Amino acid sequence: MSGFVFSEKPIQIEEGDGPYLYDDSGTEYLDMGASYACVPLGHDHDAVQSAVSEQLSKLTYVQASYPNAARTALYERLAETAPDPIGKVWLCNSGTEANEAALKFARSATGNSKIIATMQGFHGRTMGALATTWKDKYKKPYEPLIGDVEFVPYDDPDAMAEAVDDETAAVIVEPVQGEGGINPASDEFLQRTREVTEESGAALIFDEVQTGMGRTGTLWAAEGSGVVPDMITAAKGLGNGLPVGATLCRDWIAENYGSHASTFSGGPVISAAADATVSTIVDEKIPAHAADVGQYLRGQLESELGDAAREVRGEGLMVGIEVKRGANRILKELALNHQLLALPAGRTVVRLLPPLTITEEHADSVVDALVEVINE
Ligand code: PLP
Repeated sequence: MSGFVFSEKPIQIEEGDGPYLYDDSGTEYLDMGASYACVPLGHDHDAVQSAVSEQLSKLTYVQASYPNAARTALYERLAETAPDPIGKVWLCNSGTEANEAALKFARSATGNSKIIATMQGFHGRTMGALATTWKDKYKKPYEPLIGDVEFVPYDDPDAMAEAVDDETAAVIVEPVQGEGGINPASDEFLQRTREVTEESGAALIFDEVQTGMGRTGTLWAAEGSGVVPDMITAAKGLGNGLPVGATLCRDWIAENYGSHASTFSGGPVISAAADATVSTIVDEKIPAHAADVGQYLRGQLESELGDAAREVRGEGLMVGIEVKRGANRILKELALNHQLLALPAGRTVVRLLPPLTITEEHADSVVDALVEVINE
């Protein structure tokens, strides 16, 4: 093997079906991380597979400067499902690129350069998005990154109000921090951030790369907070496993975006996948299901784990369990002894981002396994 970036797990995954993955010997695993939230509808979902196969049989790729029905349909679907008045769409291939574009658009549209981000936040690993990411571990080896970035404590409305001024181009914030440990922001924080950015003319960017696609119980977490930002960025679950990202913008941003492009922006195949994903999530009312099962899962975790966990937190099916000892031991035992795949968020948080289609029975099996492993 010659790959060198990701650390390999001792399980070779070869097939998927709904919330399950199968290794090379046919052992079934419940994928409670949805492979980093990338398959909100579960693995190999029929509607997405068919849309992709049909598009592949017609046309794999055409450059974005020629209109194409699959790409146009996705533009329209995203514009129609984004909170009003967000209605313009830029397509790319990943979360970091969606944020990179949002930061560039904000600088161009405002003429300012200062960017405000939050402590413990995570926005990606390209030079611009990385500069707005909190952890030094991700940044230090690559410095200097882009400048004029200031960090404020997450969920602190006064600190945010103090930091935003007439020279601010953008505030970038996750409505629920993912990598930072599953930390939901209060509505008060998001609303105050909206007020001060509106007053100063800065662009408010909601990074919904992890929270989007119904994960927190509404299609966009923005809907739950009652705040409409100037841009929403999306990726991960947007193509139910295919690589696609989006930067959704209000008109004033789109009209002054500067000069930005990407060769693979909105290729027909990933557009077909994303359109099928979003329309299935909306038509089948998946966000409401995620809200219900998420509430059940968090309730069961709290009552069954009791003092064995420090805290259970999250929204919808974005769940963090703050444990007393290292999360990695727990994750390893869940995988090897209970065939349950979950994720870390820092050293002490077990993170659950399952497919949004899981049932209460799946939730029960997760709670049973966690109770056993955490109490060992
Ligand atoms: N923003 C958030 C909130 C994320 O959770 C992630 C990835 O974990 C990113 C951005 C970066 O996305 P990608 O890995 O697709 O570049």
